[in-house]
Parts: sequence; structure tokens; C-alpha cells
Amino acid sequence: MAGIQTVGVVGGGTMGNGIAHVAARSGLKVILNDIEQQFLDRALATIEKNLDREVAKNKINKDDKVAALARIVPTTKNSRLAEADFVIEAVAEDVELKLKVFRAIDEIVRPGAILASNTSSISITKIASGTKRPDKVIGMHFMNPVPVMALVEIVRGHVTSNETYETTRQLAESLGKTPVEVNDYPGFVSNRVLMPMINEAVFCVMEGVGTAEAIDSVMKLGMNHPIGPLALADLIGLDVCLDIMEVLHTGLGDSKYRPCPLLRKMVDAGDLGRKSGRGFYKY
Ligand code: NAD
Repeated sequence: MAGIQTVGVVGGGTMGNGIAHVAARSGLKVILNDIEQQFLDRALATIEKNLDREVAKNKINKDDKVAALARIVPTTKNSRLAEADFVIEAVAEDVELKLKVFRAIDEIVRPGAILASNTSSISITKIASGTKRPDKVIGMHFMNPVPVMALVEIVRGHVTSNETYETTRQLAESLGKTPVEVNDYPGFVSNRVLMPMINEAVFCVMEGVGTAEAIDSVMKLGMNHPIGPLALADLIGLDVCLDIMEVLHTGLGDSKYRPCPLLRKMVDAGDLGRKSGRGFYKY
């Protein structure tokens, strides 16, 4: 894949540490950048724990683990991204933050290199417009947990070049993932299809069509989903679900995407799912 040896990962949170993990395990050098040393320490501890899990399952051996960890260079200095052949951004889902980060890395990373975003819902076209290389900006939407999930939704912005797409597709494959090509519209495909289903399940709770347990059982046993939509909403975070519904509603302008009032009420109450200990279920 066109000489990619070093990948920059910006943001070492839930997604960034997973992306660094799979890149390092695939033999790439990784420049892992976050704003504070404590976040880098936490990311490396998580990567080590997850690599240990792969050793225990005989997916890799101990030497592979040690070699993968040695390929990761943690740094709070984003200037080190100058060494990267390809950069994947995974900072928080905030348009202004992403624009700021892309403007900064556009100045640092060599002109020919591709800049990818792991955003779940922000327009790739908009992120690209803040750079001097919009044709080299693309979405690389990994799924959580990154080391486990096969899909990478590759999102072509309005002016993303074919060459950028092809290099990104090859990179995703070299990380052991299955890339799927989609275009840049609100929610892409993953959240455009998933979130309205979750939102509809919340309407079913609100209207008393069924209990949370009943709704999840119908979808698991009847539709062969591995997890029910409400348990999944609790896992994703109800605040994240609400944000994505707002993006779909605003971006597509169709009332069918209006967030369920119960979803909004639960977020207002601080019932965010697993992370707050309470959502549709108690944890
Ligand atoms: P997170 O909050 O766990 O991690 C974000 C990290 O970015 C933090 O460690 C933070 O310190 C760091 N950061 C903030 N500003 C920075 C900067 N200027 N430079 C470098 N690092 C900076 O977030 P996350 O859940 O990993 O999500 C990251 C992105 O991935 C978001 O766009 C999100 O929508 C997307 N995403 C998340 C999931 C998920 O399930 N969590 C799934 C798919 C996509």
C-alpha cells in the first residue's frame, strides 16, 4: 500500500488506542498523539491489556505482543506527526475540535500524506474544507472495540480522490479489516440505519408497546440480532445516540429522524446507559 510504514493516530481514547493497537499489531510504526501524558499512559495500558487477551486466545504470541508495543511511539508533541505517512484522527466528536486538529496537522504532515477521520457523524467534506488538501481527506470509521470488529466504513468526502480512497482501502485491509465504501451524507450508512432503529425502539418504550426487555428479546430472538437495540443504546451511550439523531434530523431535514422525547428526557436526567450506571437497564 503505497509505502505506508508509519501511521499517526491523533487521540488515544477508546477508539484511538484500538486503532494504534491494530496498526502496531499489523507491523506499522505508530505515532500516538494525545494532549496529556496521563491519556497516553492510559492508552498504552489498555493496548497492553488487550494484546494480552489476544495472547491468551493464541491469536498472537508473546513476542508479537512485545514487538507491537515497541512499535508505538506515544507523544504529546503533535510535531512528531511529521514522520507519518498516513494520519488517523480520533479526538472527541466535536466539529470545532476536529477542524482545529485538522488545520494543525495539515501544517505538520507532509503534503502527499492522507488525513483520515474516525468521526461517527461529522461531515468529512466539512472537515476536509479546513485543510489545503481536501482531496486527501477521507473518513475511516472503525467500530468499537476496534481490535475485534471487522468493519471499517470508508467515507468519501465530496472531493476525496480515487487515489486517496484506494490507498485507504488497502490500509484498512492490511490492518485485517473489511472496508466498505460509502459516501458522505449524515450518519453515513452505519448510523443512518442503526440509530433510527434504536430511536424507534425508544418510541416503543415511551408508548408502552413493550418493556425494554420485551423489545430487545423480539429483536434478538426474532431478527437474530446479537444484542437488542436498547441494550446497544446503553452500551453506546444515550447522549451519543441523541447527538447522532440530531445530526440526522438537522442534516436530512426529515421529521422521521426526530429524536424520541423519552431519549431526550433520559439524557437530561443523566441516565446515559452503562457509563452512568443506568439507562434502559441498571448496571
Ligand atoms: P474519547 O473521548 O475516548 O477519546 C478522545 C481522545 O482524544 C482523548 O484521549 C483526548 O484526550 C484526545 N484529544 C482531545 N483533543 C486532542 C487534541 N487536540 N490532540 C490530540 N488528542 C486529543 O473518544 P472516542 O470514543 O475514542 O471517540 C473518538 C472519535 O471516534 C469520535 O469522533 C467518535 O465519534 C468516533 N467513534 C467513536 C466510537 C465509540 O464507540 N466510542 C465508535 C466509532 C467512532
